Amino acid sequence: MNSNEIRQAFLDFFASKQHKTVSSAPMVIKDDPTLMFTNAGMNQFKDIFLGNSPIKYKRIANSQKCLRVSGKHNDLEEVGHDTYHHTMFEMLGNWSFGDYFKEDAINWAWELLTEVYKLPKERLYASVFEGSDEDKLGRDDKAAALWEKFLPLEQIINGNKKDNFWEMGDTGPCGPCSEIHVDLRSEEERKLVAGRDLVNNDHPQVIEIWNLVFMQYNRKADGSLEALPHQHVDTGMGFERLCMAMQGKTSNYDTDVFQPIIQAIAKMSAKEYGKNAEVDIALRVIADHIRTIAFAITDGQLPSNNKAGYVIRRILRRAVRYGYTFLGFKEPFMYRLVQVLIEVMGNHFPELVKQQELIEKVVMEEENSFLRTLENGIRLLDQIIDKTKSEDYKVVSGKVAFELYDTYGFPLDLTELILKENNLVINRREFNEEMEAQKNRSRSATAVETGDWVEILKDDVEEFIGYDYLSADVRITRYRKI
Ligand code: ATP
Ligand code: MG
Ligand code: MG
Ligand code: MG
Repeated sequence: MNSNEIRQAFLDFFASKQHKTVSSAPMVIKDDPTLMFTNAGMNQFKDIFLGNSPIKYKRIANSQKCLRVSGKHNDLEEVGHDTYHHTMFEMLGNWSFGDYFKEDAINWAWELLTEVYKLPKERLYASVFEGSDEDKLGRDDKAAALWEKFLPLEQIINGNKKDNFWEMGDTGPCGPCSEIHVDLRSEEERKLVAGRDLVNNDHPQVIEIWNLVFMQYNRKADGSLEALPHQHVDTGMGFERLCMAMQGKTSNYDTDVFQPIIQAIAKMSAKEYGKNAEVDIALRVIADHIRTIAFAITDGQLPSNNKAGYVIRRILRRAVRYGYTFLGFKEPFMYRLVQVLIEVMGNHFPELVKQQELIEKVVMEEENSFLRTLENGIRLLDQIIDKTKSEDYKVVSGKVAFELYDTYGFPLDLTELILKENNLVINRREFNEEMEAQKNRSRSATAVETGDWVEILKDDVEEFIGYDYLSADVRITRYRKI
């Protein structure tokens, strides 16, 4: 099956079990102070679970655009380096709001995976909550008994609170979960180590694909649990991981979700995927990040200098720099990938097609503006790296990172990433101090613009004392407090 057929088969399957198919909620969240981006399928149903919103449909299924780059779920560092975490991904989900519970959820998950998708049973593992003394909860024997109908005991695994107990927050709905993992290793490798020993162990080919959450408790403010009046099911399956399992691949990037994008970048840069580790990471990072950027813009979040907008700008600049350093792109190139992305995903997400022109324009402008300073910033950073290494230091001054941020538009995490590639770290305290100082400066600067007259505090006054030239065209601006 191709990826579009795989997604459709999921929705059709749950429609046949009387689920209403709904659209993905926007990935960008505008009205929740606790969350900038949708990070799980259940987000849009939060108010139903909290009992604040009426239940319109008892059964729902969809494919939700998710982004995990900040807060509780931040997978950014993994992306491109591993083969199964993305910044933006689709989470296929089915929900029961006070309707069916563990039995149907597990039966249907099994039926879908083994009868519709025909994944080999001997390669599937199910985890169940082992219980927690702290919460005075025993093992989830109900879920275990249901899995025992389908799986031998060796393929059922007990999991701890971290992996197998889901909570919405410090208080609120929560409950045990059962996860399904799939072992995609070769037969030879499987003989050497049992799959069950690799579950939840960051093995790139023994991976979690589906999480079935059974909401049956409410966590009260005092930390204790009470039974919920209505029990709910909330499931989330990683679409790109499912495609990898279905298409006989060992990396999400080898599926038809990513290959057209990777091949387009490879062609544009005259590189080949699969020949060089650094180039491959760059190709994966860019293929991943263009999805995030395109969907964020589509859903109403333009790159900008603060909050959610800065998250998107950071991701875009991260991709541009990977392209610049490892693929040799000196001119905007990301915007040309939007067309390819639309060919892959536009069918299911028509909003992408509608916004194509806007996305391309915004991405190209962002690329242009960053590329203008990128070269000088990288040159400055290279000099700092050489100097730090020659002095046998491991820590780079936060002032330099701030200069890169302020003058060259390098987000801190980008500077950190480049330093990490060189086994160096940044002095974050110094960076924060510089940032704070700049905020104070700009506060008085705005005061000057808006007030009739302003008394400037002595502390805020800085005298320009000249440039420090690191090379003919790389300079650091020096000020002194007066
Ligand atoms: P992992 O342990 O692999 O990080 P998770 O336990 O954080 O996954 P859940 O919160 O349970 O993930 O989300 C449900 C499903 O979404 C997972 O089973 C997985 O298939 C998928 N998923 C989670 N994070 C990502 C990601 N960053 N990229 C792609 N798919 C993901
Ligand atoms: Mg995770
Ligand atoms: Mg997990
Ligand atoms: Mg999980």
